[in-house]
Amino acid sequence: MTVSFEALGLSPELLKAVEDLGFEEPSPIQILAIPSLLAGRDAVGQAQTGTGKTAAFGLPILEKAVPGRSVQALVLCPTRELAIQVSEELSKLAVHKRAISILPIYGGQPIERQIRALAKGAQVVVGTPGRVIDHLQRGTLRLSDAGIVVLDEADEMLDMGFREDIEAILEQSPADCQKVLFSATMPQPIRELSKRFLREPEMLTIAHKMLTVPAIEQVYYEVRPYQKMDALCRVLDSQGFRKALVFCATKRSVDEVSIHLQQRGYQADGLHGDLNQTQRDRVMSRFRTDGLEILVATDVAARGIDVDDVDAVINYDIPHDIEGYVHRIGRTGRAGREGKAFTFVTVREQYKIREIIRYTKARITQGQLPTLRDVHNIRTSKLLEEVRRTLAEGSLDRWRVLVEEFQNEQFPDGDVPARDISAALLKLLMQRDFGNQDNANEIDALAVEPRRPAGDADGRPKSKVPPRLRRPENESMCRLQVNVGHTHDVTPRALVGAITGESGIPGRSIGAIDIQKHCSVVEVSAELADHVLAVLNKGVFISGVKVSATKDEGSDGPRPRKPFKPGPRRGHPGGKFGKKPRGATSGRKAYEESH
Ligand code: ADP
Ligand code: MG
Repeated sequence: MTVSFEALGLSPELLKAVEDLGFEEPSPIQILAIPSLLAGRDAVGQAQTGTGKTAAFGLPILEKAVPGRSVQALVLCPTRELAIQVSEELSKLAVHKRAISILPIYGGQPIERQIRALAKGAQVVVGTPGRVIDHLQRGTLRLSDAGIVVLDEADEMLDMGFREDIEAILEQSPADCQKVLFSATMPQPIRELSKRFLREPEMLTIAHKMLTVPAIEQVYYEVRPYQKMDALCRVLDSQGFRKALVFCATKRSVDEVSIHLQQRGYQADGLHGDLNQTQRDRVMSRFRTDGLEILVATDVAARGIDVDDVDAVINYDIPHDIEGYVHRIGRTGRAGREGKAFTFVTVREQYKIREIIRYTKARITQGQLPTLRDVHNIRTSKLLEEVRRTLAEGSLDRWRVLVEEFQNEQFPDGDVPARDISAALLKLLMQRDFGNQDNANEIDALAVEPRRPAGDADGRPKSKVPPRLRRPENESMCRLQVNVGHTHDVTPRALVGAITGESGIPGRSIGAIDIQKHCSVVEVSAELADHVLAVLNKGVFISGVKVSATKDEGSDGPRPRKPFKPGPRRGHPGGKFGKKPRGATSGRKAYEESH
């Protein structure tokens, strides 16, 4: 049974925000909670972490919020970090709702600033209990018009000793105010709290199902968000799978990953809910018949996949819950075949992998990502193994004749030994194997140099631009016109982020930026212009707009270079581009933001 967000009775503004975030369908707790909260019932929700509880209460809150001065909804969170996180998620969900503002209030931030912000009017307040009490006592926060109070992570808040504060807050909220409590566990104090303050609460519980974990090799890697793409290539390159299934959390992520893989020369394609049936069938039949090595998909799109010989599942984005993990990895190791599963985990997601390990009792070991040198060594030894097999098979006469002819023709003096020709052939094969020039350059260097680190001291990946493309100083600049401007809320920071993130060129290769009403003109080093154009036109999004970039012919030619200087910090009043960049860039930043 699938339920869509539309079916849950949300307004177009919220559906659009959900679409922007790339959520394909509501999670189980969202399916349960949204209709019930919209109906105004009190409720107690219980579900694992990472199952989308924020949107489960956030969407109903925003659905009912109307512009105005008074506080209509209060969400209590145990810590300042969670208050900020929840308020950010709610702001993302509220982007298309006019004049609804969400304000986090927590200890540690100067109270005067919060008082001013509250006085200006916020419809939704997300706060920690201590600070909320403080404002209630000062009279700077009033709950008289509040229609809903949500306790998020209620068990945590009680554990942290907020019981009295929470009770005081609930007592001060209007008698007919809807009260909702979310908690991962249901110990006695939580039940008492709910009995005392909630009216006939609906119980919304998502239970753990019994799970059988397939007996396949499972590894996880700790990666930084921006390293995921390189990590994926390393895993693919070192293992040489014939068929791999890569899972991403959102449609946008599926598009980004499959486009990147294609650009890097892999036979890859993506599958998600936005494709029509014909497109899906085409992708699936290519995957089934070995026309595709790598299929990138969301959980929803992968549901219909019935392919038995998948060598590996790679969780590019960690699944939202344990069932998701088990379903995903069950796609490999079928019909008695061998299979492997790899999961990328960022620092913020470590708790999720621990939870998966705890509940499934599966042996999921932490692995070290293969270095470029490892990749090279593994591929070389595989290739040499194939050479050995081919030698053993014999029947080489025809080929031997070819080599001799080649040798006599090309090197009539006979001073190029067969060994050099073999070496050239190996080099050629290895380079073909890697399929892409950047890597080929790396491999060449690796073959002669001792080990060198794959990134700089922070482990940041090196620029993807081959060295020969780096800009010599005093280079002339070329002006590119890009179809995003003030009307799209684009900022110089967003443009620079998207261009450097997508194309890998260094920020210093970007010159003056002129943002106009409907478009922008960006100077880039002339030598890199074609590379940047090609990358930008391959389906990059900036400020939610699919980029189309052209050379700005009218004003071509060298111009004085005015280096880009980051403007005032986001949100700082008074700056020229002081407006908060919204959903700005794709590329590296978006990876980090969306995880
Ligand atoms: P919880 O509070 O249950 O621990 P969150 O609300 O923080 O979980 O959500 C975890 C992550 O899942 C967030 O990054 C959120 O944006 C994302 N998410 C929420 N709902 C969905 C959905 N329906 N589809 C995909 N991702 C979702
Ligand atoms: Mg949460």
